[in-house]
Amino acid sequence: MNNSRTPSPDAPKIIPRAEHNVSRDEFSKSALKVLYRLHKAGYQAFLVGGCVRDAMLVLHPKDFDVATNATPEEVRALFGNCRLIGRRFRLAHVRFGREIIEVATFRAAAIHAHDDGQHDHEGRIIRDNVYGTIDEDVWRRDFTCNALYYNIADFSVWDYVGGVEHVKQKRLVLIGDPEQRLREDPVRMLRAVRFAAKLDFTIDPPVVDAIHHHARLLSNVPAARLFDEFLKMFQAGHAERTFNLLREHGLFAEMFPATEQELAQDNDFAHFVAAALQNTDRRVAAGKSVTPMFLLGVFFWVPVRELAERIRSEEKMSESQALSLASYEIVAQQQRRISIPRRFTVPMREMLSLQPRFAVMRGKRGIKLLDHRRFRAAYDFMALLAEVGQVDAATEKFWTEVQSQSAAERAASFQMNAQPGKRRRSRRGGRRKQPQES
Ligand code: ATP
Ligand code: MG
Repeated sequence: MNNSRTPSPDAPKIIPRAEHNVSRDEFSKSALKVLYRLHKAGYQAFLVGGCVRDAMLVLHPKDFDVATNATPEEVRALFGNCRLIGRRFRLAHVRFGREIIEVATFRAAAIHAHDDGQHDHEGRIIRDNVYGTIDEDVWRRDFTCNALYYNIADFSVWDYVGGVEHVKQKRLVLIGDPEQRLREDPVRMLRAVRFAAKLDFTIDPPVVDAIHHHARLLSNVPAARLFDEFLKMFQAGHAERTFNLLREHGLFAEMFPATEQELAQDNDFAHFVAAALQNTDRRVAAGKSVTPMFLLGVFFWVPVRELAERIRSEEKMSESQALSLASYEIVAQQQRRISIPRRFTVPMREMLSLQPRFAVMRGKRGIKLLDHRRFRAAYDFMALLAEVGQVDAATEKFWTEVQSQSAAERAASFQMNAQPGKRRRSRRGGRRKQPQES
């Protein structure tokens, strides 16, 4: 094991308030309350991590991590509204209404102690649970920009690793030896991409090289953790940039192999995915809700569709049934990489298997689709396909219009009372075979 990263006993560079731009206005009142109370009780109290970095970039941080030399029990004794969580390493959660401030006791990096029980054979950290001092705590952090400490005692910023300079240069630099740090925790590769996308930072070339060497290690990360990372990467308003970087660095293929395989050979699919990512980012920017099942459905769409076609060539069943079966199969394969909770996979299957129903624009079966509990998601999905020209515009227009029609207008639109012989010409573009109406 390469231990070249052994922490130097260097003192931090302490940047006084007058020489940095981190303003208390960027921090929540609750976070400041926690800091002041710890400080008054005689403990060291710092903000650390993303909130300091984001404050420096005036990005209005939303979550706040406090680091202190008080133990979790000592923190709890100071706050009535406090819960201790975590078994292996205890953290204090101090609650203010809906806001939770996480308070962590300084930790020594596992790399500190030289016994070898703390890395598994691939170099991952398996023990990281010793309290330490601030100048030990800093070395277990990932990027230099995430290792800045804001001291409530005098509003100074403590920088052990050159993070302030790197923030100015918009560089993502791993603390220590990149190869080793990525082996310790392969999720740092995804974090690199996420921060690069969010902050518009450049990933430092040695980190890029190390990512290219270690992309495969993502397969060792527990599938549940990858789902958490998926959410952070794709629901934070920078989904498209994140996606492009993930692909550029060979990480997307590790997370979504079936999707990557289709993307590489199908331009229409790539356009559709890009439209979905842009749409997601627009929704986040507008403060609208996003559900992961929609984007996952987009990622799986072509693999599912192709498998459904294969199933149908072997066995007689409806397009919807085949899509449902195929979704089940593709999701099952995917679960080995990223575990997607059932509350998302079930509606996703419904959303995909409803797609052929949009071709049915008359009769009871047509109109009933409007009442399906998954209509809205399925409609959005179809509208997105139409946006990239993969469902015809007339179909999209029809389903958009009927939603705002009165009951009588709807009945007319779906030709509910039409005589079989007097049928209006279908508005459908005729791309899909229209299933037989009963
Ligand atoms: P954001 O809140 O924007 O997602 P963040 O930097 O605050 O970004 P968190 O996941 O909230 O990220 O983690 C808080 C801090 O904990 C990080 O800034 C970093 O110092 C440290 N950290 C988190 N995850 C890791 C990791 N996998 N390896 C090393 N340090 C980490
Ligand atoms: Mg954070």
